[in-house]
Amino acid sequence: MSDRIHSLSGYMYEYQKSVQDPESFWSRIADSFHWRKKWDKVVDWNFETPDVKWFVNGKLNITENILDRHLYTRGDQAAIIWEPNDPEEEHITLTYKELHAKVCQFANAIKAKGVGKGDRVIIYMPMVPEAAIAMLACARIGAIHSIVFAGFSANALSDRINDCKAKMVITADGNFRGNKQIPVKEVVDEALKNCDSVESTIVLKRTGQDIQMTSGLDIWWHDAIEGVSSENKAEEMDSEDMLFILYTSGSTGQPKGVVHTCGGYMIYTAYSFQNVFQYNQGDVYWCTADVGWITGHSYIVYGPLLAGATSIMFEGVPTFPDAGRFWAICDKHQVNQFYTAPTAIRALQAYGTEPIEPYKLDSLKVLGSVGEPINEEAWHWYHDHVGKGKCPIVDTWWQTETGGIMVSPLAGITPTKPAYATLPLPGVQLVILDNEGNELKGNSVEGNLCIKFPWPSMLRTTYGDHDRCKQTYFSTFPNHYFTGDGVKRDEDGYYRILGRVDDVINVSGHRMGTAEVENAINEHPKVIESAVVGYPHDIKGQGIYAFVICDMEGRTQEGLTKEIKETVNKIIGPIARPDKVQIVPGLPKTRSGKIMRRILRKIASGDGDNLGDISTLLNPEVVEAIKEGASH
Ligand code: ATP
Ligand code: MG
Repeated sequence: MSDRIHSLSGYMYEYQKSVQDPESFWSRIADSFHWRKKWDKVVDWNFETPDVKWFVNGKLNITENILDRHLYTRGDQAAIIWEPNDPEEEHITLTYKELHAKVCQFANAIKAKGVGKGDRVIIYMPMVPEAAIAMLACARIGAIHSIVFAGFSANALSDRINDCKAKMVITADGNFRGNKQIPVKEVVDEALKNCDSVESTIVLKRTGQDIQMTSGLDIWWHDAIEGVSSENKAEEMDSEDMLFILYTSGSTGQPKGVVHTCGGYMIYTAYSFQNVFQYNQGDVYWCTADVGWITGHSYIVYGPLLAGATSIMFEGVPTFPDAGRFWAICDKHQVNQFYTAPTAIRALQAYGTEPIEPYKLDSLKVLGSVGEPINEEAWHWYHDHVGKGKCPIVDTWWQTETGGIMVSPLAGITPTKPAYATLPLPGVQLVILDNEGNELKGNSVEGNLCIKFPWPSMLRTTYGDHDRCKQTYFSTFPNHYFTGDGVKRDEDGYYRILGRVDDVINVSGHRMGTAEVENAINEHPKVIESAVVGYPHDIKGQGIYAFVICDMEGRTQEGLTKEIKETVNKIIGPIARPDKVQIVPGLPKTRSGKIMRRILRKIASGDGDNLGDISTLLNPEVVEAIKEGASH
């Protein structure tokens, strides 16, 4: 594609153009897509109400751009390679032609069940190709999909079904995860006891486990497509029609139904995918996320397939059958771009380099990271042992709400710096504001990360509650989108994400990002992972409380605690020296692998009996253990 940036000066040039004249810039990018009707105006916006429209009055269907457009040029190329949980099971390859046929057929099948344009469909599925087929089938007929991660509880699922009043649920009998077999359909049955809006459920047979099928409600996937045509004319959609709703992971509280629309999301995910990963035709790209997260939406399915890429989908977990599984898959499919999360990297780092040694990993060209700040130690481990020192790391900062990657190096083009997301993508106009809303210009500044101009894939609203969208993102700083994250722009103009501003600790008037302190703690060779929070402190205002997972071999608790404090002292200075260090067996995490600091904050401040609902945690059992060991 002509929109590929090839050099640092090319990036600078494109960035300047995108700021000076955003309309011509995005109009040029959008021109290379297939539109049923071109837009009348590139962008219409108001950050007060807020109201944002891109490619106004343009008509399209995103699946024509993903499937039909590629049929003649790359019909026989693999679109999706699916790698099952069990390495003994055969992988599946779906070419663009095959994917097209399957999507059209399933689109016809759900239409026959009464789902139409504008209806909401919940997808609660394992990581199987049918999950992508279900998404695209919805998009094909103009139904709005909302994927719920298949590890969520019945309660969490029914909340989301009710919030968007879904008409259909697409699910599976069960889910293979490592050694486990998770009863997915059973959870749906439980959830549906509290939902009136659902008229039918389509169930994929995956594990073959025993399940209950309710006549008149449940139908097997294979029965639903039986004898159904594989031809389907895509529904014509407006640029601003909803494409999907995705509930945020909820690390900061009640999940929000983030709404993305067809036109802008299409342009931005394709553009950012090609430029960040520097994908070349024929490359094999693998993002290890689940389709239940925004990363899975934008960078397993939509972005890569829009770009005509080969995208791997993996059903399993990084440690099954052993901690070398990721690397086995990289070699098996000759993966060129590999995109994962710091939580996975740190988990694998804990096994040492032995599980990597049997593998060549010589096909890898680019490594990516997303989801939280990647600490320097994990960055180096990833760079040296996985990338063998020759693969640039793209540390990509973005959010469910931004739809696509906002700040990241372009692989091999932007010089990287460990723990820095580096520079904004073209079209992304970042500003740093102090707490009073004054813009902090120039370099070597730190504050609230905001965006002052719309970008095509930004959220349009929070489903069913526009005021919540306004309050959450557009009210803290008038006329700005507020990300909720703290950031530093260093002396070179590079951006480093400091963590959520709610997590910022104020010690004797010095503001400190949790990420920065954790990064220092993690430099200690015995530390596997850490989480830092503030707690009320009589003299300093806030004290620093560190929860740390360690390899205890050859160390005493007391000795290690002291060493950790000293490490921080040395790296950042006495001001950041943790007041308390607690060695813990695990940290409370969301299902997407993020640390739930709000729980740790409560424990640290002695309010551990008042944690609220912790059932959506990945590992609720560690909470008790942490509470027991807490010091006050
Ligand atoms: P909720 O908004 O419900 O609390 P969430 O913010 O965890 O959920 P996501 O949209 O998945 O849901 O996460 C976005 C956040 O993840 C960012 O705001 C940022 O705090 C963090 N993040 C993502 N990528 C990076 C990165 N590369 N570096 C630093 N932080 C990152
Ligand atoms: Mg968030």
